[in-house]
Amino acid sequence: MRPRRWFAILVCLCCLVTAAWPAEVKGENKKKERLAVVTVDRVNVRQGPGVPYRPLANVHRGETYRLIDIKDGWLKIEWKKNKIGWIAASYAAPVREMEIVQEDRLRLRQEPGLDGRIIGHLAQGDQVIVIKEKGEWKQIVTKKAVGWVAASYLADAESPTGSRQTGVVTADSLNVRVAPSLDAERIGRLLHGERVEIVETKRDWYKIVTRSGLGGWVAAEYIEMKNGQAVGNPEEAVAESASPAAVDLVTIQGNGPRQYVKKWTRTPVQVLAGKTIVLDAGHGGKDGGAESVNGVTEKTLTMETAERLKEKLETYGARVVLTRVNDDYVPLSARVATARLYQADAFISLHYDSAEDEDASGITAYYYDRFADYGLAQSFQGPFSKLSALPFRGLAFGNYYVLRENERPSVLLELGYLSNRSDAEVVATDSYQETVTTAIVNAVRHYFQ
Ligand SMILES: [Zn+2]
Repeated sequence: MRPRRWFAILVCLCCLVTAAWPAEVKGENKKKERLAVVTVDRVNVRQGPGVPYRPLANVHRGETYRLIDIKDGWLKIEWKKNKIGWIAASYAAPVREMEIVQEDRLRLRQEPGLDGRIIGHLAQGDQVIVIKEKGEWKQIVTKKAVGWVAASYLADAESPTGSRQTGVVTADSLNVRVAPSLDAERIGRLLHGERVEIVETKRDWYKIVTRSGLGGWVAAEYIEMKNGQAVGNPEEAVAESASPAAVDLVTIQGNGPRQYVKKWTRTPVQVLAGKTIVLDAGHGGKDGGAESVNGVTEKTLTMETAERLKEKLETYGARVVLTRVNDDYVPLSARVATARLYQADAFISLHYDSAEDEDASGITAYYYDRFADYGLAQSFQGPFSKLSALPFRGLAFGNYYVLRENERPSVLLELGYLSNRSDAEVVATDSYQETVTTAIVNAVRHYFQ
């Protein structure tokens, strides 16, 4: 082929690429940015690019919006579906990338460099929005602040499982224990081919979490490592989630005609990323718990609630560990051990009540420790008070083993009286299970935000 032909083909290719590209990213200086993030506490969105224009709405730090254009020191954004407005460029910035903090108590500084004044700390798992880079430092925005962090402690938000390692069970049946020892109490069993997340290694033992949420120690020789593969399928969670706070994540990579859209999906805001929540489905196995007047056992209901809760909490990025995943008898000591083992950020024990007084009705949230537990219990006040299905009886001190012997923040929820005919009917319905688990998720989000 003659050089002229080559040139013609090249020109055609360029035309195709350019034509397919949305108009607003053609400009040289806007090529890489499609989202803008607000960098100040609160700012007006205006009808046009200037202070004389009418304010349309308020936007707040850490919120991201689709960026349409940059003009004369103003950013043109879509602040609501199909609603266009302008913010002054000094109060917002184009988003470079979304990243996840990899280190607990990561220092946030006013200026880039080790001499920069420390203005706060970030927690492992926090999601941050990068707006600028300078050498080894990145300027980031969170809901609370704008500052600089060492870039080496950040990782790409698009691989939320990060460095988590996974493995597959090679034995026909493998015991899960509360501690890395053959003498330790058995809390469950894994079957051949089951996938697990490996959280920690100690001598010949792995600390694992299964897809169903069972956590504990297993003998390492029966686990085959699968490097760089996630246990769960992150796309599944993304597709199912209808989180109202979802944002569009778009990253455009590369330069010139070679740039391409790396990702365009709806992702729930991972407000619980980095948090471990241990859910304790009360009773199990030979211990059925209370029995309702219409024959439903407490152990079945608590498991149902725990499973729904696990699914919901995971869409917000939490790691959820269950103290039991089957209809097994698990002693109270093993339940508390799970909270300690995973350094639970919150331990939630799920129960359904029973009383001699058949008229007793409603939900109670119990705490033991007057500081750590009470703080967690308090976040349930709002969400439970809003439930219409059953009355909220309030917070109460409860001398329960799983609270008293628990060094992690813990609550015990009694989600209705099985001894009350009407309560018993309500708690067994799908709609109650949905609304009560949503209320619990709201309480947990409130507690961590
Ligand atoms: Zn119970």
